[in-house]
Amino acid sequence: MGVLTGKRAVVTGGSRGIGRAIALGLAQAGADVVVNYAHSTAAAAAVAAEVEALGQRGLALPADVSQVDEVERLVQQAWSWLGSIDVWVNNAGSDIITPPNRHLTRSQKLEMVLQVDVRGTALCSWAAGERMAAAGGGVILNVGWDKALAGGMAGDTAELFAISKAAIMGYTKSLARSLAPAVRVNCIAPGFIQTAWGQNASAAWQERVLAETPLRRWGRPQDVAEMAVFLASDAASFITGQVINVNGGVIM
Ligand code: NAP
Repeated sequence: MGVLTGKRAVVTGGSRGIGRAIALGLAQAGADVVVNYAHSTAAAAAVAAEVEALGQRGLALPADVSQVDEVERLVQQAWSWLGSIDVWVNNAGSDIITPPNRHLTRSQKLEMVLQVDVRGTALCSWAAGERMAAAGGGVILNVGWDKALAGGMAGDTAELFAISKAAIMGYTKSLARSLAPAVRVNCIAPGFIQTAWGQNASAAWQERVLAETPLRRWGRPQDVAEMAVFLASDAASFITGQVINVNGGVIM
């Protein structure tokens, strides 16, 4: 029996990277999982198939989390297919650091992180959280960034992630109060996790990441997934409104 046996989960942006690892981690722990995505139809279907191979029910559902009507449809479809929702993970994030989006202007990137990361997290949390509370309870997990509040890096990209992820981290605490005691709300704040950008980062970045991380390695998407499983489980039943770094020991 896994710690999430019988639970039903939705992971936004579950087609790739950290979201994929969270979807599979939740399934490994016994949850049925809806894998949301925006563009990557084949990748999301593959993750849903992996969920099924782990012995759980898996379904890929497209929706742009920044659009109210698409979020409403996603919540309704997921609720109806799963039977209810116990765990909602707001992982979807705009990729502003790999091509082609890295070539957008700074203000275009700002619009992306505000729309997808901030607005998407709030729209999904409202739509799913209120239903979960009315049905008796549940868990919402948001995704921040370990350096957001401390302004731990310089540069346009860091500024944009500070704007969007600090908002999500503050929102997590407020939402946790709004939805308590029925629904627990926490935020995982990853450090350097080796997804699309990290796999192709320059030699200088590879060195910098290792030098700045006390545990001397990149984080793996599974490291974030392990925390998601814990926070979604009853083992975390007295934890809400918290931001928890998964960053290899960087003190921010
Ligand atoms: P990623 O590889 O770029 O994957 C992003 C995911 O979000 C994809 O599944 C993508 O779906 C989905 N997505 C993008 N826009 C969407 C939209 N409008 N509606 C629904 N889904 C959308 O990202 P990642 O590196 O795994 O990061 C996942 C989360 O962790 C993000 O919130 C990111 O900001 C955060 N984070 C990452 C790191 C890191 O080092 N990697 C560090 C701190 C925080 P499609 O595939 O369909 O486009």
